Amino acid sequence: VRPAEKLLILDRDGVINEDSDAYIKSLDEWQPIPGSIEALGHLRQAGYRLCIATNQSGLARGLFQLQDLEQMHQHLAELLRPWDAKIDHIFFCPHGPEDGCDCRKPKPGLFDQIKAHYGQPLDKVFAIGDSGRDLIAARLAGARPVLVLTGKGRKTLASGQFLDVPVFENLLAFSQSLLSKSLDLQ
Ligand SMILES: [Mg+2]
Ligand SMILES: [Zn+2]
Repeated sequence: VRPAEKLLILDRDGVINEDSDAYIKSLDEWQPIPGSIEALGHLRQAGYRLCIATNQSGLARGLFQLQDLEQMHQHLAELLRPWDAKIDHIFFCPHGPEDGCDCRKPKPGLFDQIKAHYGQPLDKVFAIGDSGRDLIAARLAGARPVLVLTGKGRKTLASGQFLDVPVFENLLAFSQSLLSKSLDLQ
């Protein structure tokens, strides 16, 4: 059995870039949260493979097209290049709530795709999200949910439903904690 490799699963909107209730529909609206690019750079340099698991129902709603999404992800790749970092893979759900898919979080389908893609269990893999649905999907898939207080994070914390989940101010604070080993992986 090959040892589990270092992997992190990240939600996108509200974790890496600023979220909006009106959806992130274009490159112009895609604005990194301060410190998030740096955090990804440090995590990648420390040997973590980074993947994103994101609901993008704006596709099903016709608010933007696949090429708009690709532009945003191209931009993210460009921002990460000076850090010699990259996102390994972006797993997204293009469906709407009425589509009955199994990949729209809080369903665990995206995480199942990740398990299959990397061929490893997720029990030692942190999944960083700002919404309850991120944390629930991570739990259902056997990953380790982490809450950040950017995006919808404060609302999620205030719901009182995730009291056992580690909480960080933002992705940068999470990365600093993980890389200083104060967040225990065992
Ligand atoms: Mg989010
Ligand atoms: Zn889906």
